[in-house]
Amino acid sequence: MDIPTKKNLLTNGICNPIKLKEMSTNKEYLQIEREKEWRVELRKTIANKERTAKERVRMPEMDPQERIKYQNREVNLGLTVEQAQAEASRCLDCPNPTCIEGCPVSINIPKFVKNIERGEFLEAAKTLKETSALPAVCGRVCPQEKQCESTCFYTQKMKKTPVAIGYLERFAADYERESGSMSVPEVAPSNGIKVAAIGSGPASLSFAGDMIKLGYDVTVFEALHEIGGVLKYGIPEFRLPNKIVDVELENLQKMGVKFVRNFIVGKTASFEDLKEEGFEAFFVASGAGLPRFMNIPGENYNGILSSNEYLTRVNLMNAASDEFDTPVIKGKNVAVIGGGNTAMDSVRTAKRLGADRAMIIYRRSRAEMPARVEEVHHAEEEGIEFLNLANPIEYFADEKGKVNRMRIQRMGLGDPDASGRRRPVVLEGSEYDIPVDLVIVAVGVSPNPLIPSEVKELKVSKWGTIEVTEETMQSSIPEMFAGGDIVRGGATVILAMGDGRKAAANMDEYLQKKLKK
Ligand SMILES: Cc1cc2nc3c(=O)[nH]c(=O)nc-3n(C[C@H](O)[C@H](O)[C@H](O)COP(=O)(O)OP(=O)(O)OC[C@H]3O[C@@H](n4cnc5c(N)ncnc54)[C@H](O)[C@@H]3O)c2cc1C
Ligand code: SF4
Repeated sequence: MDIPTKKNLLTNGICNPIKLKEMSTNKEYLQIEREKEWRVELRKTIANKERTAKERVRMPEMDPQERIKYQNREVNLGLTVEQAQAEASRCLDCPNPTCIEGCPVSINIPKFVKNIERGEFLEAAKTLKETSALPAVCGRVCPQEKQCESTCFYTQKMKKTPVAIGYLERFAADYERESGSMSVPEVAPSNGIKVAAIGSGPASLSFAGDMIKLGYDVTVFEALHEIGGVLKYGIPEFRLPNKIVDVELENLQKMGVKFVRNFIVGKTASFEDLKEEGFEAFFVASGAGLPRFMNIPGENYNGILSSNEYLTRVNLMNAASDEFDTPVIKGKNVAVIGGGNTAMDSVRTAKRLGADRAMIIYRRSRAEMPARVEEVHHAEEEGIEFLNLANPIEYFADEKGKVNRMRIQRMGLGDPDASGRRRPVVLEGSEYDIPVDLVIVAVGVSPNPLIPSEVKELKVSKWGTIEVTEETMQSSIPEMFAGGDIVRGGATVILAMGDGRKAAANMDEYLQKKLKK
């Protein structure tokens, strides 16, 4: 068998990013890496029994009472060098690293973790960047407890708390950024072939990073005035500071990716216009930014808005600042409907904007909440009230049409539904009212309908997601690939990034074949 080595993966003097991903799932390659002298020696320095006896490190955090005063101060403060090395030393450098199987972009986890243990932090960051375009972002927002950490040997075989892979990822990425020696990945000489990404969220950013490395002329078109998609307009600064995203964007720009803002593909210009401009292929990653409502009586009253609108106003339009003329209602009794990340971000934002009572109203129990465990924990620390097993059924308003009360129905839990979560069931006659002056609806999102409705030949599912071949991310239109939330519905940053990488690999293959003809 042809074992991939770094040497035979050099294409035009650069490491081919796609093959690097294949490498990191190739068992023989992983074995070769694991047998490198430094790793063998490092394993010998501490007995496994001693490693597994160590306690998982705790992430230093800002004090809850202090942090709720600031919209833009990060809650997690990051590990110190000593903490990071201590945590990295818990990792057993397993012969069969099951953690990698849980990572949608197949980061070589033991390699980066062991680099931290031996103090080679820049090497650790380099390992992350072999397969992940946004490690500082993923280290902050990925649901590691459902991914790599859930498949770690500690979780699976020892029933112990896993290695804190997410914290270590963040540590390595932050260390590199703060060291001032941030490496810009090498790119192949330009092949002059123009490709476009539609939308500038994580799917497009990872697509753009891979395509530029392969030598393509890449332009990212974004409808909004800011680049970053949900990373900028959705996830608040107290979880993901904008400057972290900006550094990653600058890196892409240095590599040659072009960004065009305030440009709605399908309105500002059509795909036909772009083809005339010389674009040979497209990656559609327009996200799932269409808010859903519950369609219950009174939902149109003033003071009831979608989480998308609320978060976009605060995060992107400075609505919380009195110096800007883009106001947002700063409620005192705020109800946020839903139990996902969006709901958690909205309710914690409302608390920071001065709510006395900031409440989550969720129809299932805490165990079924889709939000990241850490976000729920942080919300609790910040004094967020959880009205679980509760569902709004009607809103009431004052004489000016401004919401002032809501009716809630208590729920119980029945058998699991298709998602595996226990189904909420109505408890008849259990209604009660609570006063509210702001309601934020965060009950899910739908795919952005613009591109599917503009491009008639595009095959779209009954949910409005673009249909693609799973292995290639290619749509029913050969030169159009798609990925991220527009394909999956609301999903996660890392899955969007994985799609971007897969689409890049397959678009490259498609274009090379097409242009050779
Ligand atoms: C508030 C919130 C919190 C979240 N928290 C987490 C979390 O903690 N962890 C996690 O993993 N995931 C989280 N998610 C989900 C995650 O952010 C998304 O799954 C991910 O951003 C999807 O990436 P994407 O690239 O597909 O699209 P998006 O990030 O949605 O980006 C799509 C972009 O396309 C642009 N666009 C749309 N149509 C056009 C057009 N026609 N022309 C040009 N541009 C267009 C949009 O303006 C947008 O900027 C959260 C989502 C939200 C809303
Ligand atoms: S499974 Fe856990 S212990 Fe084993 S290599 Fe991966 S992170 Fe380390």
